[in-house]
Amino acid sequence: MKNTYQLSSFTLLLLLLSQISFAQRKAKPNPLKEAVVASVDQRFESLTDLSDRIWSFEEIAFQETQSAEALSDYAEQLGFKVTRGVAEIPTAFVAEYGSGKPIIGILGEFDALPGLSQNKVPYKSPLNEGNPGHGCGHNLFGVASFGAAAAIKDLIESGEIKGTVRFYGTPAEEKFFGKLWMVRAGLFDDVDVVMDWHPSAETKTAVQKGLALVDFQVEFYGQAAHASSDPWNGRSTGDALELYTTGINYYREHIKPTVRIHYHIQDAGKVVNVVPDYSRIWVRVRDSSREGLIPVWKRVEAMAEGAAIMANVDYKVSLISGVHEVLVNRTGSAALQKNLESLGPISYTEEEQDFAKKIQEATGKPQIGLVSKIEPMEETAEHSMGGSTDVGDVSWVVPTIRLSATTAPNGTPWHSWAVVASSGMSIGHKGMAYAAKALSMTMVDLFENPELVESVKNEFKEKKGDYVYKGFVPDGPPPINSNLQ
Ligand SMILES: [Zn+2]
Repeated sequence: MKNTYQLSSFTLLLLLLSQISFAQRKAKPNPLKEAVVASVDQRFESLTDLSDRIWSFEEIAFQETQSAEALSDYAEQLGFKVTRGVAEIPTAFVAEYGSGKPIIGILGEFDALPGLSQNKVPYKSPLNEGNPGHGCGHNLFGVASFGAAAAIKDLIESGEIKGTVRFYGTPAEEKFFGKLWMVRAGLFDDVDVVMDWHPSAETKTAVQKGLALVDFQVEFYGQAAHASSDPWNGRSTGDALELYTTGINYYREHIKPTVRIHYHIQDAGKVVNVVPDYSRIWVRVRDSSREGLIPVWKRVEAMAEGAAIMANVDYKVSLISGVHEVLVNRTGSAALQKNLESLGPISYTEEEQDFAKKIQEATGKPQIGLVSKIEPMEETAEHSMGGSTDVGDVSWVVPTIRLSATTAPNGTPWHSWAVVASSGMSIGHKGMAYAAKALSMTMVDLFENPELVESVKNEFKEKKGDYVYKGFVPDGPPPINSNLQ
């Protein structure tokens, strides 16, 4: 009995102590974090309006003229110093507020995807048939990041924090990877830490590396001839194309499971009664790291020569661009994670859950609705799955902290009408505001706490080691008006 009594008083004591520390945590809110949350709430209407306008512009890579202008104009109205057309890209810009160190950057994308135009309804219904649509939620991405930068601006303006906040308007993430040229132009050289987020079907710190990739094109040059009268005079680039893709597809059996190879035949001749004398194919190779990627890339390039020899045509290989896998910063992610836990999950109305379930039904997925619960921070996998991003390149020149926030129903296909629909209505708007809050709260941590910036930088240096970053980007200007558009 005595032992039991002692045990329970000990347990009680522990309980009491934990209650006290919980109460202390609760009792000590950070006023600057409360201020940035209030800033985002106060601007919610104008941010939503901006996001909806970008959604309706439906602009694709390097053609995001109205979207870049809308964001730049809004930034200027709020007193940011805006530099438009940076890195030889008309739609790339930088909006900065404040002065001196630290310089905290934040990335914002705004390009759409071809062919995905969609109404704000939970079933497939094109808004402007054949037009692009925001199937990756980048209308929310750019605006949320700017909303976070604006909240920090308010604190710099009132003298509550010191330093510089810098928003990067980064075009063409879906094709060509605009950040590559922004990195090459040295725009990130003086930044201490960069924040970034992406619309998602979950809410969490993003601590996976994604895949490195490289894009190149192969062009075949032959001799045209009548397909029936004198085919012996023809040297067919159509044959070369077929032999080339056959080689690639045989090669698939001998690559590691982490490798992905995709291609898009862009020109295979014009008409059935002419032996084609020109063909073009866009090839993409991915792997979980650039070290794994390079030998596969070189092998797939070399196959073009084999195909050209067999078809008796000439060929040319040109690098388009490519991205690094992300250099994950777990120190910075841990700071972000705490802010997610203090914000808690996004709450949804019954109508929003209904909208989500209808999308899930229409796309043949379990009707579980929207998921925004905050899970513990994941381990970073040695080999990640999934997509690729040019944020990877930024992350190799400056420590980068990344967030995923729920803006679409769980399980539905990404890069599809379902994401376009959610990105244009309240589900997307809520995710956008949530991301702006979580990002600006973490930026408050960085501004308030130089030791945190130091440890984020130390992890970056340690992980980067002696690797000297070199982007997969050809010499010369970015391909704004290339024949690849
Ligand atoms: Zn995206």
